[in-house]
Amino acid sequence: MRLFNGDRLLVATHNSGKLEEVADLLKDYGISVVGAAEAGLDEPVEDGVTFIENARIKAHAAVKATGLPALADDSGIEIDALGGAPGVYTADWAETPNGRDFEMAMRRTHEELEAVGASNPRVARFCCTFVLAWPDGHDEVFEGRMEGQVVWPMRGALGHGYDPVFQPVGYDVTFGEMDRWEKNKISHRADAFKKLSVVFGK
Ligand code: IMP
Repeated sequence: MRLFNGDRLLVATHNSGKLEEVADLLKDYGISVVGAAEAGLDEPVEDGVTFIENARIKAHAAVKATGLPALADDSGIEIDALGGAPGVYTADWAETPNGRDFEMAMRRTHEELEAVGASNPRVARFCCTFVLAWPDGHDEVFEGRMEGQVVWPMRGALGHGYDPVFQPVGYDVTFGEMDRWEKNKISHRADAFKKLSVVFGK
């Protein structure tokens, strides 16, 4: 694996929470992070069919636009009985003309599972993929996962996205019922982050 030994990293996200998370990881290493908004980056068309492809599209587009090494991520939920859907289309299932509606998206997962007569447990996983790309075209991929099942009805009002219908393995609560600290210890992002840390020498 190629290690990162630069002192500036472009983080290809417009999400300030994600930017802070990476800045926090790197603050002891003398690496400064630049966000997508600060760099004036457009969001590229994410037309990949896997999390890796989409994260690569974002990372390499950011490198091309700035000349800096860039980190991008992509995430979503895969449901086995739906052949891995919604997968890379996780956010798309929530799109409405008035913004994202995750209650609608969660209802759709339930209706599609009912339509195919899926048995319980309805095995699923959250996935998070980071791609770190360098100006010479090289990249490194880090994949995190949290296994679990999709449940119905929705439970809990904590978290975001599909959290109220995802019950991680080993727990009898959903991510929507779990406090943030606990979720952040076991989540797909935490898993991917642990793997990513190695590239910075952590
Ligand atoms: P993106 O990686 O920002 O493109 O987001 C992908 C989609 O997956 C979003 O719609 C999120 O709501 C969903 N997602 C990713 N991680 C989580 C999570 O930890 N809980 C709930 N939904 C998630």
